[in-house]
Amino acid sequence: MFNKILIANRGEIALRIQRACRELGIPTVAVHSTADAEAMHVRLADESVCVGPPAARDSYLNMPAILSAAAITGADAIHPGYGFLSENAGFAEMVEAHGLTFIGPSAAHIRMMGDKIAAKTAMAGLGVPLVPGSPGEVTDMVEAEKIAAEIGYPVLIKAAAGGGGRGMRVADKPADLPAAWSQARAEARAAFGNDAVYIEKYLDRPRHIELQVMADAHGNVVHFGERDCSLQRRHQKLLEEAGSPALTAAQRDTIGATVTQALVRLGYRNAGTIEFLYQDGQFAFIEMNTRLQVEHPVTEMVCGIDLVREQIRIAAGQALGYTQADVMFSGHAIECRINAEDPQTFAPMPGRVTAYHAPGGLGVRVDSALFAGYLVPPYYDSMIAKLIVHAPTRPEAIARMRRCLDEFVVQGVKTTLPLHQRIIESPEFQAGEYTIHWLERFVGQEH
Ligand code: ADP
Repeated sequence: MFNKILIANRGEIALRIQRACRELGIPTVAVHSTADAEAMHVRLADESVCVGPPAARDSYLNMPAILSAAAITGADAIHPGYGFLSENAGFAEMVEAHGLTFIGPSAAHIRMMGDKIAAKTAMAGLGVPLVPGSPGEVTDMVEAEKIAAEIGYPVLIKAAAGGGGRGMRVADKPADLPAAWSQARAEARAAFGNDAVYIEKYLDRPRHIELQVMADAHGNVVHFGERDCSLQRRHQKLLEEAGSPALTAAQRDTIGATVTQALVRLGYRNAGTIEFLYQDGQFAFIEMNTRLQVEHPVTEMVCGIDLVREQIRIAAGQALGYTQADVMFSGHAIECRINAEDPQTFAPMPGRVTAYHAPGGLGVRVDSALFAGYLVPPYYDSMIAKLIVHAPTRPEAIARMRRCLDEFVVQGVKTTLPLHQRIIESPEFQAGEYTIHWLERFVGQEH
């Protein structure tokens, strides 16, 4: 097992990883920017090192500074969390080249899945169903027109290096294709320095359903069921559930078996999420995330498993120690992402939190680094808390979430709490009848 783990992240996820380390008896090193010197992840760490000025590229993305912090504190492993360096294959390689362990998959798998075209090709070869689309990169308009006509409009132009919902444009009809094509490429070039794009059929009413997997270095792979992340705005998730209201246990078993068999053949290691669009009873792969996800707690609640602890154990070479038959699903969990944003315009609202009271009680979990007096900095993601509830059934989980949203007090900054209150009161949400397009229409209707 590791002697000391450096956590290359901030906010709630840095705390989340610290908690797992503490329960395993492993000391932690926090890294932070000058803007985060007073942050909770720094206060609660055993040691901390300032790695640069506020801008993420100078601090949380500053690889030499983070590796130096590991060297001077004697850390022997690095957990990247999500975002920042978590899907940077070069960083994973650098960590290993310095004789440290990267708590995550191999650099080769991070690289493969970071290129969505390579990911789709690999998954197709392993028997995983795909969204219909171009077999690879589409390099010119003539080819784009031909493929779009073959698969049928509407189509989606997507960046091979895409992430965070960027580099994606819909073309409803042939006349829209040139603009969608050039906009997707320009956005991809600006965001990722890579303008390679591919084309997919644009599904009109899918759900986003993803499978959580965990693989050890000894060839054992299990899945921890699905999460329904269909409630999105601008392709960004706002609320997630485990399990999906649209799936039966038998359907979960079937897609779970397909996915675990594929990952055994791939030789994958550590945590991963396979994302699908699900429509008319069919799963279609869109991408794989080679890291811990923001929404991992809903899976932890229904499976009673600590996914971060599993990641650390596996990275240290331990075997899973259980099989798929040992993984049990109990009850229903819902997570609301609470952002420091105007709930109507979604503009980020950094500022000082003047009062803070988190809900509690049976089946309630709040993953947050917030406290009264905290200054939400303007430099990073606007998510300030995740509110997670667990209950025996979905209606009970909704009632619990309603109670918790009413109890939650965050003053001084505007938050998306009121939006979540409206979502859970809507008949469509309560019936579990929503697709990835529902929330945008709901928000549009409301205002
Ligand atoms: P990113 O890596 O930017 O998150 P994804 O490929 O995971 O991109 O897609 C993000 C979201 O975009 C999906 O959850 C879904 O809502 C939407 N999306 C992606 N592909 C399609 C498609 N072919 N049809 C309809 N919606 C899509």
